[in-house]
Amino acid sequence: MTRRASIMKGEVDHRFSSEVAKQPIEIRLDMCLQCGVCAGSCPIAFAMDYTPREIMELVKLGLRDRALMCKAIWLCSGCYACSDRCPENVNPAEIINSIRSIAYKSKIDVPKMFIKIAENLLSYGWIYEVDEFTNEERSDLGLPKLKPPNLEALRKMLEEHLFKEGQR
Ligand code: SF4
Ligand code: SF4
Repeated sequence: MTRRASIMKGEVDHRFSSEVAKQPIEIRLDMCLQCGVCAGSCPIAFAMDYTPREIMELVKLGLRDRALMCKAIWLCSGCYACSDRCPENVNPAEIINSIRSIAYKSKIDVPKMFIKIAENLLSYGWIYEVDEFTNEERSDLGLPKLKPPNLEALRKMLEEHLFKEGQR
């Protein structure tokens, strides 16, 4: 149970689960059984302030601020073990991604690493700069040269899915 005893009056936002569900990837939060398979599968759960199961519970209970402020959403590595093993196809990994987006739009402090990754994506189309040195190293390993991505399409997608609502 997610520390229900300490839930404060006025803390519940009944629209939060709908807000989280507004994303292009399918999620099935209503089907969450609170079985804990996601938490048991997560390689980082030991370091999280809320396990994946508890994060699902926060969303179901409408505890918006706690979900947006928890450190676990930024610790998640996006390995998708939780989504792969969830018996109800709830897709907790994408729910965590959605909470991250809402946190960003809500002007919650985002770890600098994520800001840097977003800046690099907008500038280069990759999460880090791919220069000639990188391609030479790839060539030495027998790998093909990386071609520049379609920056315009990428920026359009980021604007549609990340920056459209609640500009920071
Ligand atoms: S998200 Fe899936 S694995 Fe996690 S508690 Fe809910 S039903 Fe179980
Ligand atoms: S996607 Fe995130 S929450 Fe899910 S198992 Fe991987 S690290 Fe844990």
